Amino acid sequence: MSFTYKETELFAEQCAVTELAKTHGTPLFVYSKAAITANWQQFSQHWPAPHKLCYAVKANSNLAVLNVLARLGAGFDIVSGGELARVLAAGGKAEDVVFSGVGKSHEEIAYALDQNIGCFNVESSAELERIQHIASEKGVVAPISLRVNPDVDAQTHPYIATGLKANKFGIAMGEALDVFRRGQALENLDMRGVDCHIGSQILTPQPFLDAADRMFNLIGTLREEGIQITHLDMGGGFGIPYQHEEKLEVSGYLQELQRRAKEIGNLTLMLEPGRAIVGNAGIMVTKVEYYKPGSEKNFLLVDAGMNDLLRPSLYNAYHDIVPVQRHQGVDEPLVDVVGPVCETGDFFGHARHLAAQEGDLLAVMNAGAYGFTMASNYNTRPRAAEVMVHGETASLIREREPLASLWQGEHVLGDDA
Ligand SMILES: *Cc1c(COP(=O)(O)O)cnc(C)c1O
Repeated sequence: MSFTYKETELFAEQCAVTELAKTHGTPLFVYSKAAITANWQQFSQHWPAPHKLCYAVKANSNLAVLNVLARLGAGFDIVSGGELARVLAAGGKAEDVVFSGVGKSHEEIAYALDQNIGCFNVESSAELERIQHIASEKGVVAPISLRVNPDVDAQTHPYIATGLKANKFGIAMGEALDVFRRGQALENLDMRGVDCHIGSQILTPQPFLDAADRMFNLIGTLREEGIQITHLDMGGGFGIPYQHEEKLEVSGYLQELQRRAKEIGNLTLMLEPGRAIVGNAGIMVTKVEYYKPGSEKNFLLVDAGMNDLLRPSLYNAYHDIVPVQRHQGVDEPLVDVVGPVCETGDFFGHARHLAAQEGDLLAVMNAGAYGFTMASNYNTRPRAAEVMVHGETASLIREREPLASLWQGEHVLGDDA
């Protein structure tokens, strides 16, 4: 584990978190290179070529994170043209990128084709027609996979379940064959794969395997029609323990998936893990501004807010919150840890036992995924700084935003307006 106490002090690898906060201020995201690497290898060691792993960029898109993964041989799963530009800026290759997302614009499709994108994960027949149109104008052939909705219940939070009929993602299983036939008839499309992504923060292999079986069935049907599907992308969604949940055994699932794919034959498998690579590789460090005891509740007001880490407010997500410096033998009152943003939903934890006073530092654990990437400037708050540690070395990988940059590009009306 990369975030552990040495006596009473929390360390990130060999770096004292107190020192990091002193140097870079708070709120501060701290990532461990060793943890990212180990998480990646947990997948890659059970996933021999030609099978591919595409890190889901939206989980954490900092250039340094992408660069570490590119150097480990990662491909990337993106959901916007902006994410493609980030991958390229970080040293990734467009050929190793799959482009997911329900709402790809003309500009994004054209940009991805110009860069030689590895594959489009297409989510509707309208998108198929649009890609055909743009590819034919450019005189190129676009590599296509269809995102099919296997209609399995991932038993996760409704906001992050994506594989049910009732949500906006993918093409219904019953329509997949027709859409494929249409794609086959279009000259500038190379219909080569199918993909799915059933949701996020899934902690048992069963929903994945159920979905895989439905996808294998579909591949069988398509091949009977003479449509040569050569890859199956099973998406991401691998959960991590945030509280006391049992860990998902990735290796067993990966091996079972390969075993079943072998029975089908001639099939390259792909996965798109995001959270499982970066979630437990990051913490958010925040400083206590005030302790505010009350008759009903006690509050610890900290200097990070929902604009820095939205998951508790958005999903009612649980994050462990620990003191950066442990105090021995003191009372730990029951507190709500809340931020300064003017919203009642601005909290990090309810009813936690924590002894902390003004000026103390707290670490919000497992903040590496969907933390900084969901940050905003709400309440005109500059976004936090980000640091990556490697052994005893700490590198600033994103500067804290200067206040004036928040209204850069804004203009007051001229006198005649
Ligand atoms: C968000 C997303 C992922 C990554 O999900 P995790 O739960 O972070 O693993 C992968 N594929 C697609 C299409 C996604 O939208």
